[in-house]
Amino acid sequence: MAEKARSDVSSVFNKVYSSLEEEYGDLDWWPADTPYEVMLGAILTQNTNWKNVEKAIENLKLNGCITPGAINSIQSDELAEYIRPSGYFNIKAKRIKNFNRWYIENGEYNKLISIETDKLRKMLLGVNGVGYETADDILLYAFERPVFVIDSYYRRIFSRIGIIDNQTGYEALRHYAQRHIEQDVSLYNQYHALLVEHCKSTCKVKPNCLGCILRNNGICFFSEHDS
Ligand code: SF4
Repeated sequence: MAEKARSDVSSVFNKVYSSLEEEYGDLDWWPADTPYEVMLGAILTQNTNWKNVEKAIENLKLNGCITPGAINSIQSDELAEYIRPSGYFNIKAKRIKNFNRWYIENGEYNKLISIETDKLRKMLLGVNGVGYETADDILLYAFERPVFVIDSYYRRIFSRIGIIDNQTGYEALRHYAQRHIEQDVSLYNQYHALLVEHCKSTCKVKPNCLGCILRNNGICFFSEHDS
């Protein structure tokens, strides 16, 4: 990844944040009642959009399956039925059961919260079905650790702005973001939420650049013809 001067890159990240916050305000993420619900949502959101995850979580709630004990007791095929709206439901049911086994074996939230971030991240990445993005969603939004989540929306916006190469691997992009954006839980929480919101409303696969605050504020000069 071509590195621009550190202060230039930090300044772009800061301007993007302040522009998007001006546009969308405080988004109050992650939409969940408990840290455990965040964890389930982080697995359910793999390869789908949030609307589908909401339907799956609603089914789990309606059927009293939003606790580690309940997920432990339920059969995989029944769980798969409840989470069907999230897509890949058989695979995700297995992943949730795997994750839940690990979660219970390791003492659940009260024990895991005391583990330092790098070690906890390694432990999460060792769970079958938990990749980088899922682990970092859980670390940031359930355990409140200053870990920047890299997702397709981050890649889309910052490659269009021109400060990252979309082909760069996850870990290099995460370190790059954490080097240039102050490591702070509430900042990372809100930053990720703002990027998601902007991609859903404006910087879509086919972007609406004319109405975009990042263009109006002189931060992004991407042209649709570049895509
Ligand atoms: S100007 Fe266009 S490409 Fe750039 S962030 Fe805005 S919508 Fe996305």
